[in-house]
Amino acid sequence: MSKPFHSIGICPVCETGLCGVRIIVPTDQPPYPLAVCDECEAMWTTPDLSQEPLFSSAEAAVNPIDGLPLWGPESHWADLGECDQVGWIEAIDPGLHYHGTRPEHDDPLVSLDEGYS
Ligand SMILES: [Zn+2]
Repeated sequence: MSKPFHSIGICPVCETGLCGVRIIVPTDQPPYPLAVCDECEAMWTTPDLSQEPLFSSAEAAVNPIDGLPLWGPESHWADLGECDQVGWIEAIDPGLHYHGTRPEHDDPLVSLDEGYS
């Protein structure tokens, strides 16, 4: 699985993965965010990692809200604009910013750093 572009923090469950911001895009509902550990697949429906995480079933990696595949075409790692749209931008840790392989992934987090402390 690919690396998240923007992460909220190191996973409190496995302590090695990154809790990346993932956008789920159901066909008949508005997109919504999920924080997903890229190692152990712990999931949070809010950017508060002190909350109890959710896990999908052992058989298939699906998200716990509507059962869509966690790594399928219905979802993707959020870009910075999407983090902003869903109101999670404040929770992003700039130190965990990952520059993706495509130019559009290389969004200017630095420019938002002013006022971010
Ligand atoms: Zn984890």
